[in-house]
Amino acid sequence: VIQISNLRTQFDDFVVHQDLNLEIRAGEIVSLVGGSGSGKTTLLRQMLGLEKPARGTVRIFGEDINDCDTARRQQLRNRWGMLFQHGALFSALTAFDNVAQPMRELRALPEDLIRDAALLKLNMVGITPNDALKMPADLSGGMIKRVALARALALEPELLFLDEPTAGLDPDRSESFVSLISGLHRQMRLTVVMVTHDLDTLFALSTQIAVLADKRVIAMGPPEEVIALPHPFIHHFFLGERG
Ligand code: ATP
Repeated sequence: VIQISNLRTQFDDFVVHQDLNLEIRAGEIVSLVGGSGSGKTTLLRQMLGLEKPARGTVRIFGEDINDCDTARRQQLRNRWGMLFQHGALFSALTAFDNVAQPMRELRALPEDLIRDAALLKLNMVGITPNDALKMPADLSGGMIKRVALARALALEPELLFLDEPTAGLDPDRSESFVSLISGLHRQMRLTVVMVTHDLDTLFALSTQIAVLADKRVIAMGPPEEVIALPHPFIHHFFLGERG
């Protein structure tokens, strides 16, 4: 689904990624992990086409995201959903309209079909039709995340990007959000790419983890295999933090 080859990302003289390679296969839940400033968020932005590589290529669904016209890029964008850490919802729209809006904009469907589809998506994330009529300001933090997830899934994406999905949730809400994502991953046959600092979320969800250090992906594989690697950074990162 995603192939990144020999990627170099640079801000002026500051090199964030150098010779970075990463391949993400369909159906995986891949977490990007690494120390603060290791370039996880920037790598996610590269996959979304929001940063330009100084060198190398980023291919999504087989296409070079930086080498296609605007219309083609929009077609690619319609095949993924993104859950942002902050500012996930439009505050002037109800929960329902937040989910219906991308459908209205990008799918030429009659309003009654949009209504059914939006309510179905909201139902999948545990939001009742009654709560769907509320404004974001009247919803709890956990409900806002759920509505934002329903919005990210509105166009039936194949690929879902998650930036710190459980940040700001208490342990109970965090756990139930993790099971929700896990269920949707199975049900919708999603490929998921996630950045998280939360090791519980990481181990509960990831089928693969990609470790960023020294400006590259230094290791990738199933979590239990990666944490067992005899690499000082990995040892410190996982075992140091877990005690
Ligand atoms: P954290 O875990 O702290 O969120 P991260 O691994 O996500 O960090 P990034 O946010 O990708 O790291 O940032 C990597 C480096 O690139 C940082 O040193 C950051 O200051 C720098 N950086 C990111 N975006 C820009 C930008 N637009 N201009 C200049 N430097 C930037």
